[in-house]
Order: sequence, then C-alpha cells, then structure tokens
Amino acid sequence: MTRVFNFSAGPVALPLPVLSKIKSDLLDWDGTGMSVMEMPHRGAAFMRIAESTQALVREVLSVPDNYHVLFLQGGARTQFAMVPLNLAQQGEVAAYFDTGSWSRLALEEAKHYAKVHVVASGADADYTRLPPQDSWSFPETAAYLHYTDNETVHGLEFAEPPEMPGVPLVSDMSSNLLTKPVDIARYGVIYACAQKNLGIAGVTLVIVRDDLLERAPMAFTPTMLRYKTHAESGSMYNTPPCFPWYVLGLVFEWVKEQGGVLQMAKNAESRARCVYDYLDTTDFYEKPVEAASRSRLNVVFRLRDPALEAAFLARAEKEGLFHLKGHRFVGGLRASLYNAMPQAGVDALLCFMKAFEQEHACGRVA
Ligand SMILES: *Cc1c(COP(=O)(O)O)cnc(C)c1O
Repeated sequence: MTRVFNFSAGPVALPLPVLSKIKSDLLDWDGTGMSVMEMPHRGAAFMRIAESTQALVREVLSVPDNYHVLFLQGGARTQFAMVPLNLAQQGEVAAYFDTGSWSRLALEEAKHYAKVHVVASGADADYTRLPPQDSWSFPETAAYLHYTDNETVHGLEFAEPPEMPGVPLVSDMSSNLLTKPVDIARYGVIYACAQKNLGIAGVTLVIVRDDLLERAPMAFTPTMLRYKTHAESGSMYNTPPCFPWYVLGLVFEWVKEQGGVLQMAKNAESRARCVYDYLDTTDFYEKPVEAASRSRLNVVFRLRDPALEAAFLARAEKEGLFHLKGHRFVGGLRASLYNAMPQAGVDALLCFMKAFEQEHACGRVA
C-alpha cells in the first residue's frame, strides 16, 4: 500500500487499526453472518454495538450520569438549529461568540429562532485571534451561551471555555472533541460531527444535560429535532446511522487503547508544537493567527509569496502529503493534525516544508 499522509480538515484519515477492523468485520460481524450495514437497528446484534458504544463514549469522555449521550444525524449544522429550537423560547436572547466561520454560521442560523446577542467578535481582526477577554460583553440574561471550541477554518482554539454563571454553556466541539480532557459538568450541551476525530460522516454526537431535556422546546420544533425525542428512544426514534455509529465505537476503542484523551492531548500538543516551532523560525511561511489563539488541530499558514502556492501543493502531493490547501473561505494553506495523524506525518510535512523553503529561498527553480 502506498504510504500517504492526509492533512484534510474533514472527512479525515482514520486510524489504520480501525480501518483494518472494519475490513475484517465487513462481511460478517462477530459471527452473525451479517454485515453491520445489513442489521436491523433493534436486533440483538446492533443493540450490542449501540450499547457498548454508548458505554465507551461515557467512559472515555468521563460523561457524568446526569447527561444523555445521543447519536443523531444531520451533522453539526443541524445542531446550529437544534440548539435554539430546544433551549430558547422564540425571541429569547441567546448569547454567541463570533470567532470564525463556524461560530458565525451557528449564530446566523440561531437568528431564525432567537434574539442573538454577540458577546464578542473576531471579525474586525479577520478572525486571526480570539477576542480578548476584556472585550467580552455578556447580556443581562440568556437562554444559553454558545461558542465554538475549535475554529476549524480559521485555526483558532479556546484554551479555556468561557463562562456565564447560571447560563447553560453550549459548545461546538466538532473538530476537537476527543483530543483533550473536557470537564463536561461545565456544559449544558456539547455537540460534534463525527468526521474529524470521532469516525465517519453520518452520525453526530450530542451530550446534553438531563435538566435541559425538560426545557419546553419552541412550539414548532419538529419531533425529529427535539433532544427529548432522541433521549427517550435511545437515539432510535427513527432508523439511526448504524454504520457510522459502529465506526465511532471502533474509534473510541482505539483511543482508549492508546491511553485515552490524556494521551490524545499529549499527541496533539506535540504535533502542533513541532509545526508551529518550525513556522516561527522562518518568514518564508506566514502565520496569520496570533500565538495565544492557535489551534492544536488546524494549523493555518501561507506562503509569503502566494504565487508559489500551486507549486507547493503539487510538490507536497508528490511526497505523499495530501489536502494541505486552506479552506475556500480563507485561502492559503492548512495542515489538519487530528488524532489519527501519526508523528511520522508531521515529520514528513516538516521535512518537505524545509526543503521547499530552501529551494525557493535560494532562488532555484523547482
Ligand atoms: C466540520 C465542522 C462543522 C460542520 O459539520 P457538518 O457535519 O458538515 O455539518 C461545524 N462546526 C465545526 C467546528 C466543524 O469543524
């Protein structure tokens, strides 16, 4: 097999042992003679998968007993609507941080249902830094406070969650759940699509505090978009995304075997440090993001000479380094370094970036 490293922001590389397990299970899961793709979701075999995955998620993420773990569909983008539709009343104030394209999209969606109060915005700085704490302005009261823990497109990550006393904290952790320990008790709702660190697209993990299930959703909130519907049916109100649910379980198993979220945090820290340390030694590459706001997962950078970008990407692919192009909203380059990225991938990237710099800094033609 050709060895390549996939720096995509999503969907992303999966751990090789997970892919191998899928392959060996594919035609016959655990002696059932059936593929997971063929199983009825309420049958004994899939129920075993569903229950063991639920237990693993609770264990690996240390989910307290007073929280439900839901396996939903519609991606993180559906959560942009589900959060206000379940936690606010029509026209009630919902507080949002505006720190990059994902939080921006979340708050724009919420405006259909609630009165959005922007606590702080990084728009003036082109989302190159998280707004400094002394610029935050909270409303007097709010149905909830929403923020995006890791801004996947702009490459920013909160080191500590914000807090508004007495107000449920809601976090989009689509690109960094499972990469560090999280004190879930501080949150009302955490949601994450699976295709960054948790598995494959098709399932969305939602962790919701039980008392919030009792909040009356808006009168017009569809049954399918009520958290309570899914909490009461074990995420089987309708046919769940069985295969992505199963893959998510394999990924959590792999993380547990690797040493859990503490080890994932160490790995993420050291991958990011290698890349940023190198970037800080050179001005051949530009680093738009302020150091204190840098994401450990999505390293955003540019070439000082943007005309070299196409050559950079083409040469990278020749070295087996794929998907280093920045998001179409911001351009430039981005290396996404999720849990499944081995140190060897980081080493190969650095080796290539140094060689590319040397070649072009000496004025030689590629
Ligand atoms: C990828 C991503 C999303 C979008 O997820 P979908 O599953 O495509 O809806 C939302 N928020 C963040 C932070 C992301 O990284």
